[in-house]
Amino acid sequence: MDTRISHIAKLIVRFKEYRMHKGSCLCGAVEYEVNGPLGQIIYCHCSRCRKANGSAFVAVAPVAAADFRMTKGDAVLRSYRSDAGVHRMFCGNCGSPVFGRRENAPETVRLRIGTLDTPLKRKVSAHIFVGSKAVWDDIHDGAPQFEERP
Ligand SMILES: [Zn+2]
Ligand SMILES: [Zn+2]
Repeated sequence: MDTRISHIAKLIVRFKEYRMHKGSCLCGAVEYEVNGPLGQIIYCHCSRCRKANGSAFVAVAPVAAADFRMTKGDAVLRSYRSDAGVHRMFCGNCGSPVFGRRENAPETVRLRIGTLDTPLKRKVSAHIFVGSKAVWDDIHDGAPQFEERP
């Protein structure tokens, strides 16, 4: 192949890798890929997200549902409806939270970015529901904080 063409081909592959994100649950039964950009990283400190994740907050990034694809474990994936129209999808084997969906926004998948296997260089963009965060949780970054959903 012409060296110039192969150089361009390599750049295209690198660009695709950058836009392609992959992730999996703790036990590996569930795997997914995102063939597109990830939205801003949000930490939600609300009590429901804290319980669902057993942690101080959930780290989510929205992705277009059209870009999101389960590559393994469709049959293992379970859904819990925590509020009206909010579905929290998790691995039925190991319990890893994988993504959330809202009935009123079916075009968006709210990815639990802790399950990503590919690197993400961006940092948190905002903290939401800070008004209901755990008392033992202190926020030490400069990202904007919102009492509830902005
Ligand atoms: Zn699992
Ligand atoms: Zn929340």
